[in-house]
Amino acid sequence: MLIVKKFGGSSVANKERIFNVAERCIEEYKKGNKVVVVLSAMGDTTDDLLAKAAEINEDAPKREMDMLLATGEQVSVSLMAMAMAKLGVPAVSLNAFQVPMHTSSKYMNARFKKIDGERITAELEQGKIVIVTGFQGVNKYDDVTTLGRGGSDTTAVALAAALNADACEIYTDVEGVYTADPRVVPNARKMKEVSYDEMLELATLGAKVLHNRSVEMAKKYNVPLVVRSSLTKAEGTVVKEVTKVESMLVSGVAVDKDAARIAIVGLKNQPGIAFKVFDLLAKHNINVDVILQSIGRDDTKDISFTVDQTQAKECVQLLKDNQERLTIQNIKEEENVAKLSIVGAGMQSNAGVAAKMFEALYDVGVNIRMIATSEIRITVLIDLDDVKVAMKAVHDKFLDE
Ligand code: ADP
Ligand code: ASP
Ligand code: MG
Repeated sequence: MLIVKKFGGSSVANKERIFNVAERCIEEYKKGNKVVVVLSAMGDTTDDLLAKAAEINEDAPKREMDMLLATGEQVSVSLMAMAMAKLGVPAVSLNAFQVPMHTSSKYMNARFKKIDGERITAELEQGKIVIVTGFQGVNKYDDVTTLGRGGSDTTAVALAAALNADACEIYTDVEGVYTADPRVVPNARKMKEVSYDEMLELATLGAKVLHNRSVEMAKKYNVPLVVRSSLTKAEGTVVKEVTKVESMLVSGVAVDKDAARIAIVGLKNQPGIAFKVFDLLAKHNINVDVILQSIGRDDTKDISFTVDQTQAKECVQLLKDNQERLTIQNIKEEENVAKLSIVGAGMQSNAGVAAKMFEALYDVGVNIRMIATSEIRITVLIDLDDVKVAMKAVHDKFLDE
């Protein structure tokens, strides 16, 4: 069997944890399996590197950010290879350049284009455990790129697909995918299985236990994933195409605290205005989520919507630059908000799910500011201060047994 095993930052945070991971991988290797290990940077390394960069230049060139951020993963893989050597097992560490793992050119948010499996296969054939840097790639200019926060999961899935692996295991600091973040909702339950579609929604809507692009890619190449703990042997959660369990009405609750709300006020109430606004944003790759349009004063309209906080500044500037053409009187931005979502494939065929969610929020006195729905999710925008109580109330309404 060829197994890809990915370990996150907390799983390799110090010497003991590194040896723990080394031993778990060696155990698999000694059973006669081929083992490819993908690692994140140790502990809070990536956050620390971001802080260091901000001390020097708050608006640093993204190319240089990637040169810096990619160093974290290189530290982990080399130390892991040293640990395995110490334990008497042949291992080799490789960075994205050495594999190579080609990506698009977009610094800090690159996507995989092509992965060359030859070097890894050759090293495996020589009986080595191969340890690869997560989160990074190389673009057509031979520059280092990174995949966006949490991107190591995507490296693991991409390698599993490229190498046609028999299993792809994501090891982290919780025992699987839960019905809500177990650190916020202590009575959240571990799921045995979850479908790609539901997991993709959960990950996109804030459940950062998996990078959303890793789920997208797993679905595309039909790579079943297992999410489990690096510290216990507990069975994890399987992420795959269709689950045996009958579609749950609601399978999970997610919160995204990185949302910003933008309100544009006093637009002309005539056809084409909304098109012009959102076309402009789309052309600049600004992802808009929850949208609300309302009637303003004197035959005008107001539109508010959410974007990712990282894109808020750029979005406001863009609107300001086009204020006259778009007939905007006023632009406001607010970051003290959060998106709370419920996800479930069973929602499509069930009336009353939204009402039940809103009732849960009403019960705890949480005000809903905006609402968006799709076939398998309902999202509300709430105040950041309300997140904890709202998440627990909504979770318990649907998922507490
Ligand atoms: P790693 O460093 O291993 O990649 P992450 O911090 O990226 O770990 O992801 C694991 C964390 O995701 C958990 O510690 C947990 O707090 C958070 N999380 C959010 N939502 C969920 C969920 N639904 N199920 C499990 N964990 C979740
Ligand atoms: N080290 C990177 C991050 O912290 C990638 C990852 O952990 O997946 O975002
Ligand atoms: Mg992660």
